[in-house]
Amino acid sequence: MLDIAIDGPSGAGKSSAAKLAAAKLGFIYVDTGAMYRAIGVAALRRGIDTQDKDGVIAMLPELEISLAFIEGEQHVLLNGEDVSKEIRLPQASMAASHVSALPEVRAFLLDLQRRLAAENDCIMDGRDIGTVILPDAGLKIYLTASPEIRAKRRYDELIARGTPQDYDELLKEIIQRDYNDMHRETSPLKQAEDAVLLDSSDLTLEQVVDRICALAKEAMEATA
Ligand code: C5P
Repeated sequence: MLDIAIDGPSGAGKSSAAKLAAAKLGFIYVDTGAMYRAIGVAALRRGIDTQDKDGVIAMLPELEISLAFIEGEQHVLLNGEDVSKEIRLPQASMAASHVSALPEVRAFLLDLQRRLAAENDCIMDGRDIGTVILPDAGLKIYLTASPEIRAKRRYDELIARGTPQDYDELLKEIIQRDYNDMHRETSPLKQAEDAVLLDSSDLTLEQVVDRICALAKEAMEATA
């Protein structure tokens, strides 16, 4: 069994690379950001201010978050309802960033994340996978890229989807989310001491995937 932890800031390409690498390796891919997004969506739907700590915490006992893997794709279920599309709306990103700062929310998702890793060979991506969730992961990668490159990728992606957004706004949002993720008290985003640093600024997606697969093979050989 091998678990691979990939952490890094928003837009570094973690999910695209992790998804492709997992398919090549025959691992499951677990996107933990989707779980925080689902909690953010639950708050938005209830009209709860996502920065209202008590309101968000009071809602948690009513929530059940689970994952389903359909044709290898992760779907996130909120009380049994597939919310995979809704969690990608722009308002869900900031909502996730807010609710994820609460220790109660992180504790709420901890068991699910650890259970998925214990039961499967998996690539799990997030912000605190190598530092908190899976400190004994066989391979840890910290995947990053400059904020400008990340904003440009997002800008191009939104144009391709037919929902363009202003580049400067996207850059501002990325910098704000980085700041929130790195400066919160609980499980801030940081590189684990034993993580391999991978800067994707000048790499293609394919090059990132190849590097992850090569590192995974080394890790598997080392434990064989
Ligand atoms: O990765 P993604 O952008 O989908 O994550 C949404 C938000 O959820 C992030 O900005 C971050 O605040 C939070 N998150 C987290 N810990 C994780 C994964 C995501 O705090 N393991």
